Amino acid sequence: MKHYKDLEIWFITGSQHLYGNEALKEVEKNSKKVANTLDKSPQAPAKIIWKKLLTTPDEITNLIHEANNNDKCIGIIAWMHTFSPAKMWINGLKILKKPLLDLQTQNNESIPFATIDMDFMNLNQTAHGGREFGYICTRLGVKRKVIIGHYEDKDLHNEIEVWIRASAAFRESKHLKVARFGDNMREVAVTEGDKVEAEIAFGFSVNGYGMGDLVAFINKVKEKDAQKLVEQYYEEYTIKDTFKKNKKFITNLLNEAKTELGLRAFLKDKGCKAFTTTFEDLHGLNQLPGLAVQRLMADGYGFGAEGDWKTAALLRLSKVMEKGLTGGTSFMEDYTYHFDKKDEKVLGSHMLEICPSIANKKPSLEMHPLGIGGKDDPIRLVFESSEGKGLNIAMMDMGNRFRWLYNEVEVVKPVPMPKLPVARVLWKTLPNMQTGIKAWIYGGGAHHTVFSKSLSLAHFQDLSEMFGNELVVIDKNTELQAFKEKLQFNEVYHNLKSKIC
Ligand code: MN
Repeated sequence: MKHYKDLEIWFITGSQHLYGNEALKEVEKNSKKVANTLDKSPQAPAKIIWKKLLTTPDEITNLIHEANNNDKCIGIIAWMHTFSPAKMWINGLKILKKPLLDLQTQNNESIPFATIDMDFMNLNQTAHGGREFGYICTRLGVKRKVIIGHYEDKDLHNEIEVWIRASAAFRESKHLKVARFGDNMREVAVTEGDKVEAEIAFGFSVNGYGMGDLVAFINKVKEKDAQKLVEQYYEEYTIKDTFKKNKKFITNLLNEAKTELGLRAFLKDKGCKAFTTTFEDLHGLNQLPGLAVQRLMADGYGFGAEGDWKTAALLRLSKVMEKGLTGGTSFMEDYTYHFDKKDEKVLGSHMLEICPSIANKKPSLEMHPLGIGGKDDPIRLVFESSEGKGLNIAMMDMGNRFRWLYNEVEVVKPVPMPKLPVARVLWKTLPNMQTGIKAWIYGGGAHHTVFSKSLSLAHFQDLSEMFGNELVVIDKNTELQAFKEKLQFNEVYHNLKSKIC
């Protein structure tokens, strides 16, 4: 299904004139068939468009120029049906700005042993044409994803799907604007960072706004629009009768609706798809936005609490990648440990702002006091998440680079916590509590993360490959000593890399 309706992947095929016109016609026919099959696959979330058979250096360079300048084009799939002498690709690849998928496929799935002759071998030679292309990509340091297999294979389609999703997020990152309301939570280190360097590395821009700018939008919200939204809340969520009769709840809910509408109008006006708040700067607001933030996340906005712009941006990119998938993705925080050796696990939550896309049933709309911030009792959605595979990923500024730290988790059955008035998730850290959490701490992992039940490691691997940033993985195979050595290796590599550049 085409979840990215306006976006395109361009399919190109390399060859040369050595084989004669008849062979080139056959190459073009097969190439169109492969592109068409990939496009028709239910796993293709964007259009895959056959572009051209490329046989000369100028054709290649011109096509890549065109792709670079076309905002709809989010990536290029390149297939070498025959041998395509790779010096022809040098100038084109040097200017390539779009993600590249190096497709090592074949028109035929099997070798026709009984009939194979020299003509067939000359026409179907990805096995060495692909190596020539691979060599020049590696020599030029071109970032790309290599995929190998028959073009009708489902596993291959799945790999392409993941790469297309990452390509859509890569494009999003170049356009993304993050609004930072107020600043950072005072004295906090990990939520801070170099916003200029982030824009150089990822393309997204982060800019601060005074709370007064947002309050002006909230004050402009019409009473009847806010009332209408409150009615929608009553339809979408479970609300206990005690709240329905509570005057303070009614007032605060209306205020929250105004905040939601004001926030939406503000973000639309500024073209921002991600934002942060901080409970230390609520000047002019009645309460820390809770429900409003939760609903904006559910609509695909990125969010980071306490001024955490890095998590806000990463969440927005994750929301773009997961378009059309089920399971949900949320802002998250590792909150508290369950050290019972028979059943070690972690409770993840936040003060208010967990995205209801991860809820296992209709969320409950509630009002409770918030210990910090000194404002009205905020309205929030309370829910739990269902069991199954999940992940946490955090982005940290290490001083000379941005690190993404990934940890695979297993979400476990919710345990009743009747006195905890916030949305929450219980998970087991992989490979186990001891190794997983030690590795996270040695890796400098933040307390804020993007938590996802819809995405997998492959999505973040493809995306980080496009950016060229560091990605460190903690999963079922992690062994602590090797992990620490990996961190040391990365330290050397990234220091050298920054010095060479
Ligand atoms: Mn927090």
